[in-house]
Amino acid sequence: MDRSGLTADVIVVGAGPAGSSAAIHLAQAGLDVLLLEKAAFPREKVCGDGLTPRAVRELAALGLDTSPQAGWRHNLGLRIWAGRPYPYLMPWPRLADFPSYGLVRRRADFDALLAQRAVQAGARLVQPATVTGPVLDRASRVVGVRTKDGLEHRAPVVLACDGNAARLAIAAGRDRRPDRPMGVAVRAYYASPRSDDLWLESWLELWDGQPGRSHLLPGYGWSFPVGDGTCNVGLGLTDSSAAFGRVDYRQLLRGWLDTTPPQWGFREENRLGPIGSAALPMGFNRRPTYRDGLLLAGDAAGLVNPFNGEGVSYALESGRYAADQIVQARSRGFGSIAAERALAAYPDRLRRAWGGYFRLGVVFGRLIGHPLIMRTAARHGLPLPVVRQLVHRLLANLSDQRPNDVYDVVVNTLSRLTPSA
Ligand SMILES: Cc1cc2nc3c(=O)[nH]c(=O)nc-3n(C[C@H](O)[C@H](O)[C@H](O)COP(=O)(O)OP(=O)(O)OC[C@H]3O[C@@H](n4cnc5c(N)ncnc54)[C@H](O)[C@@H]3O)c2cc1C
Repeated sequence: MDRSGLTADVIVVGAGPAGSSAAIHLAQAGLDVLLLEKAAFPREKVCGDGLTPRAVRELAALGLDTSPQAGWRHNLGLRIWAGRPYPYLMPWPRLADFPSYGLVRRRADFDALLAQRAVQAGARLVQPATVTGPVLDRASRVVGVRTKDGLEHRAPVVLACDGNAARLAIAAGRDRRPDRPMGVAVRAYYASPRSDDLWLESWLELWDGQPGRSHLLPGYGWSFPVGDGTCNVGLGLTDSSAAFGRVDYRQLLRGWLDTTPPQWGFREENRLGPIGSAALPMGFNRRPTYRDGLLLAGDAAGLVNPFNGEGVSYALESGRYAADQIVQARSRGFGSIAAERALAAYPDRLRRAWGGYFRLGVVFGRLIGHPLIMRTAARHGLPLPVVRQLVHRLLANLSDQRPNDVYDVVVNTLSRLTPSA
């Protein structure tokens, strides 16, 4: 028999970017928020630590100062290696809706900062508190959660932000959609003189020797300069690749890095800490994102961008959308039909934001999963400045809602006309 625990207006499970973002917005709107986190901060999270201007915009909305004076490492855009011996430089675009810089911050630090901000805003953070499953009422509505220590916490609304394992969603019967892409990524930190680089770096082709004269490896690589003497270096693969699930990812990483110039330092003797890996659930891979008192946000809802593997900004943003709907529901009186309408509008809000765009990404991911198509597209498309600019804006999902140039028009139109994922 579980002992009764705490009560609140909302329970948020997991204090990663999705959970802390939601908790901050909810607490700022005056709701009593219980934020339950399995780990104790600071804790590691396997990630590339790269934040695009999309994520920076969300951090601003959370009231965080992301200036270099406040300790943030800014970057200017992407340096892409593909199909030729020297890279392409793709600066972040200058837009009305987004800032023109990205950031790199270790997740151990970044997530602790966000959780601390949630506490400052008034959320009650309990750590460590491992949620084991939902508490259901007689109508099978979620009215709280159980934690490993045998407590039963209660709230009229529960938001699952517990990451890619999505334990709470699964326990509440929300299965993974097999028709959505899934990725795996590995990363490690290396002591490197490239740590102060001002560009995020990414490789669209990985070779195990001389490019063009050796074997093309599956997947895409990155090196993100952390600014503390290290680079976060890793690679990712989606299940559209024939090698998915059949390769030793750590070995793949080492094999690729051994071909990079030795002076960059991406060698075993410079590796600091273990090679970590985790799943990337993409393109709305878990649904419904609201039913019977339980909302899903971030990786728990499978909201990683299928174009580029970015998940932090979608976690932060979905946390904000979920918070908005919960705030509206509370103002109408939790439990009322009007409140239920506000909560039931959350999936539609997500669909309107990214439905068409993610669907495009799913198709794109399937195509570039074939190395030949990827190579041909990179070799013949990227040398053309117009194509390059369009691909850059499309992959990072950066366009002004009110179009200011032809790239905005193309990205917005493609996303709008494509049926929702
Ligand atoms: C190798 C790799 C590299 C990546 N690189 C990037 C990148 O550079 N940029 C980018 O934008 N995205 C990147 N991603 C994706 C990104 O890491 C995720 O999309 C993002 O962390 C999702 O945030 P979230 O808040 O939904 O989940 P998480 O960040 O996973 O947070 C979930 C939280 O819930 C807690 N939790 C879990 N279970 C429970 C439970 N039962 N009870 C209580 N708490 C629980 C966890 O401890 C954690 O704190 C990468 C992913 C991988 C694997």
